[in-house]
Order: sequence, then structure tokens, then C-alpha cells
Amino acid sequence: MALTSGKATVRDLRRINRAAVLQRLFQDGPLNRLVLAQLTGLSSGSITNVSAALLEEGLVSEAGQEESDGGRPRALLQVNPDFGAVVGVELGETRVRVDAFDLGLQVVGAEDVPVHPQQHSPDVTLGHVVQVVDKLRQRLADEGRRLLGIGMAVPGIVGRHDDQLWVHAPNIGWHDVALDPVAERLGLPLFADNGAKALGQAEMWLGAAKGCRHAAVLLWGTGVGAAIFTKGALYEGATSSAVEWGHTAIVAGGKPCRCGAAGCIEAYVGGRALLAEWYRTDPAATPLADPDSEDWLDRFIGAGRSNVLSSASIDSVAVFFGVGVANLVNLFNPEKVVIGGWVGVKLAPVLLDRIRQVVDSQALDYTASRVGIEVGRFGADAVALGASMLVVDDILSSGGMIRAVAPMRRHRSQTGQTGRGTGALSRRSSVRKGRVGGL
Ligand SMILES: [Zn+2]
Repeated sequence: MALTSGKATVRDLRRINRAAVLQRLFQDGPLNRLVLAQLTGLSSGSITNVSAALLEEGLVSEAGQEESDGGRPRALLQVNPDFGAVVGVELGETRVRVDAFDLGLQVVGAEDVPVHPQQHSPDVTLGHVVQVVDKLRQRLADEGRRLLGIGMAVPGIVGRHDDQLWVHAPNIGWHDVALDPVAERLGLPLFADNGAKALGQAEMWLGAAKGCRHAAVLLWGTGVGAAIFTKGALYEGATSSAVEWGHTAIVAGGKPCRCGAAGCIEAYVGGRALLAEWYRTDPAATPLADPDSEDWLDRFIGAGRSNVLSSASIDSVAVFFGVGVANLVNLFNPEKVVIGGWVGVKLAPVLLDRIRQVVDSQALDYTASRVGIEVGRFGADAVALGASMLVVDDILSSGGMIRAVAPMRRHRSQTGQTGRGTGALSRRSSVRKGRVGGL
């Protein structure tokens, strides 16, 4: 017994060291070995051994050399972008987007899925996702890239019970829809999370909230959501369904919201509310030929520059949104608030000054004066990017373990634990605490 547990400890230590090196290189690379040792707290001997193994396996590659003061140039190391590709699926309310990224998070393939989640059954929608990912996999294989896994962002709650991943997303009519058949049909590991949380992780790791310990990342789209990070970890709540910020009330007895309550933030600033405002205030507004088109928002913003009614309407959007942000600032005291999502990316740059003004007047002085409010760094593919990072996170935090899923068999799902998990892998969730699923 003692021998077994001793072996496990050495194996765990090796995995933890590999994970520390990979995570640091991913977030801050390229780095030389000396800096890598300083940042990870590992000895130079450990760094030499771990990096040699990772270079040999192809997970890490050299990225040129750096001059050192008087000494020999030092080799720079990075997570090898060409080690493999990861797929991020954004299952939105009005679109399904499938993007493939290399491990440097550069886009290496993209597809739209020609179904509408609100008009097609989960079976049809997921069937199309499988077809599109399979097509993408073939194309990537032709380029010499292998697919390492799929991350899926959904407009709802992702839960795990009976060793299966389930999605509850009433906005698109999904109630307890199992995702595991997607992984089984493709023979690839699948990870899933709420869209706001996936976006939040992308901004925390590599975007506008990088380096923050306390941040709020807001997904402003058709729906409105938020991911809150405290001490660097995602705030989850008892059932992983915190922070439904879009359904917190800002007007008592206000506009009816599709969640069944009244006066929610989403009822005032969500994509549907804005579309209704555009129709109401812009005489030039025309019925949408394409219900998935987002161009109308550009036209609404344009109308706000020339039309008094639209201008007042857009200003009131900034006020409602700002009040919601002020509530978050008072509740969570973030260092930074980052605004993303397809509406946020278009509207926040226009409204940022006004939103800041509202937060300054509405939130407590001390906290308001110390919070930065910014537009997210990532654009339209941010949610798919965040979803793909669920896979990347699993690879990094497991120390470079590449999972294989046999089609139509049980697979490793959200927490990286299945009935056939090995000891080292099944303990990986302890490496980074406080994240939902792979995050
Ligand atoms: Zn609501």
C-alpha cells in the first residue's frame, strides 16, 4: 500500500509540475526557463526536466531566443500552437457558431450551423453540430491538424448528474438535454459551460481582465449574463447557476421579462428589448428580412445620432445598463468590469462614458472610484473562443493529458471524471479550484 501511494504521489507531483509550466507558458509565454522557474516557483532542475519532456512530446515548442545580459542567448518556450486544434461551439439564442482554434488560440477554421436553436429541436440542432464539427475535423486533418476536443457554450445552465452532461436552457426550449451523445458520435471529449462563464474565462485568461483577481465579465447579447471572479476563481453558487444578472430587477413592477418576472435588466437592455426600441423610435426601421441579422443594431445606433427619439432611447439603455453594473459593483467590489457579447461589442464603445457616469453616481463612492469599466478584448467569436478554452484548460491543468473517447462509449465529461478515470486524472479538479467544469 505504501508503495502504491508513494507512486501516486510522484505521479501527482509530476502532473502538477507539468500543469504549472503549461499554464504559465500558455498565459504569459513565450518565456525563458529562468523566468519560468521564477514564475512557477519550481527549481531550475525541475524546469529543465519538465520542459525537456514537454518539448519531446510536442506540447511545447521553442519560439526563438532572447538576449541575456552578457550571457548566452536564452531559448524562449511556448505552448506549441500546432500541437492540435480545439473546437468551440457557441450555442446562442439566435445562432450556432463553430470555430476551431490552434493552441495559440488563432482561428484555424469556422462554420455556421444552418439551424435556429429556437426553431429546431435539440436533436436537430445537435445533429447539425456533429455534422459541422466532423466536416471541420476532416478539413483540419487534411492540413495535418488533429482535433483534441470540443467545448460548448450554452445559453443556460450546464449540470452533471448520472455521469452525463445536461443542459437546461429554457430560452431556447431545452429542458434537461443530454450532451453526451455529441461526444459519443464524434469520439471526442466534450466540455460545456454557460456562455457568460465561457466568455468570462476568455477575458480573464487572455483578455481585458487578464491579471485581475476580482472581475465581472458581462455577456450582453440577446440575453444578458455575467461571470463573477473573486480571488481569481469563478463564483458558481449552489447549483452553478449564479450569477443570473440579467434577471435581477432594476425596476419594481417594471416591464415583463421572458423569465416570468418583471423589471429584469434583460427586459430593458437585452437584444429583443433593443430591437423593439428600434422599431418604436426609428421611422426608418424596417422589419428584419433575416431574423438572425445583427445589422439592425448598427442602424439603431446610427439613428441615435440623428434622431432625438432614438437618441433618448439609447441613452436610457445606458442608464438601465449602468444601474445594473452599479449593483454588481456594490455587491462584488470588482477591480474591473468587462463588457462583451454581440450587443456589448457594438454598443458599449458608444455608451461607455455614459455607463461610467451612471455607475459613478449610483454605486458607493469608494468602490465606484476604483473600478475600471472596459469593452472586452475579443470580438464576435469571443463566446466560441471561451468555449474552446474549456478543452485547453483541461489539457493544461491535467499536465498535458490528451483524452481519447471511444465512440458510443462513456467519455470523460465536464469534470474530467468518469467511471474509468485513472487516479491521476480523476484528481485534476483539485489543480484549479472554483471553476465550473473545465474552467
Ligand atoms: Zn427576467
